[in-house]
Amino acid sequence: MKIGALEAGGTKMVCAIGDENGNIFERISIPTETPEVTVPRLIEYFSDKKIEALGIGCFGPIDLNRNSETYGYITTTPKIPWRNFDMVGAFQKALHVPVGFDTDVNGSALGEATWGITKGLENSVYITIGTGVGMGIISNGKVLHGMMHPEAGHIILKKHPLDQYEGKCPYHKTCLEGLAAGPAIEARWGKKGIELADRKEVWELEAYYIGQALVDLILVLSPQKIVLGGGVMHQEQLLGLVKEEVKKQLNGYIKTKEMEDLDEYIVLPSLNDNQGIMGAIRLALDEKEGIKRV
Ligand code: ADP
Ligand code: ZN
Repeated sequence: MKIGALEAGGTKMVCAIGDENGNIFERISIPTETPEVTVPRLIEYFSDKKIEALGIGCFGPIDLNRNSETYGYITTTPKIPWRNFDMVGAFQKALHVPVGFDTDVNGSALGEATWGITKGLENSVYITIGTGVGMGIISNGKVLHGMMHPEAGHIILKKHPLDQYEGKCPYHKTCLEGLAAGPAIEARWGKKGIELADRKEVWELEAYYIGQALVDLILVLSPQKIVLGGGVMHQEQLLGLVKEEVKKQLNGYIKTKEMEDLDEYIVLPSLNDNQGIMGAIRLALDEKEGIKRV
């Protein structure tokens, strides 16, 4: 079975053709310009591939409420040309196949939960820490949507007493994204994260914030595993520091076998950066089979 997968990002669109086992046969990347320019190119790529369904993991916010008139639209994005664009409708009209749709990070969470490191777990969280922070939550075997979809990259954090930086988020300043995403690191220290590798204090502070967010998630969602992805996590010293912070900040309150073995509990993605595109395949399959994640 040939399945189309689209990872729709703010800077590039990754299109791929795969199958129901998560194999990927081919892929291309197209820069994200305006819908008028970019969408016809995407449709052209998929149109002669004989796909049976398409899955889209999309930058957001997006409308995932199937009862809404704007289901399948990109909604209040700061990328103005894409605001109120009917993603699902555009591809359905052109390709005449079922179109599965979810956020990019929910896609990554699903990719890992279907073929990767959280396979077989009913409850997991996938977090990407890059230009922004996004979270995909799988709860009782389903991607959590709720009112729209979680925006847990914006949970408000307690600032470190020695941190002078005001925070970068235009809405909240000191949310997780505002304090710990790549652009916040750069604004606080005056250099890109990759150039700060030997500055221990940079990564200790980063771990303090990521650890704080993880503690909140552990307490609220009780996940069985947490996956940390995104460009900032390429900083190799960070994962160990985050685990230390989680242990310190939880302070022994949760006693489970998972908490005894944080190396197995807080992990990096396992699908060689294919988790997003593989998750889009899963979205396509679910849509084709009529599995509604309500
Ligand atoms: P995006 O979020 O745009 O999809 P990425 O997940 O690759 O892209 O994240 C990009 C961010 O990650 C940038 O802010 C960049 O500075 C930061 N970054 C990339 N590599 C590293 C690294 N090795 N150490 C620290 N930060 C990094
Ligand atoms: Zn915010």
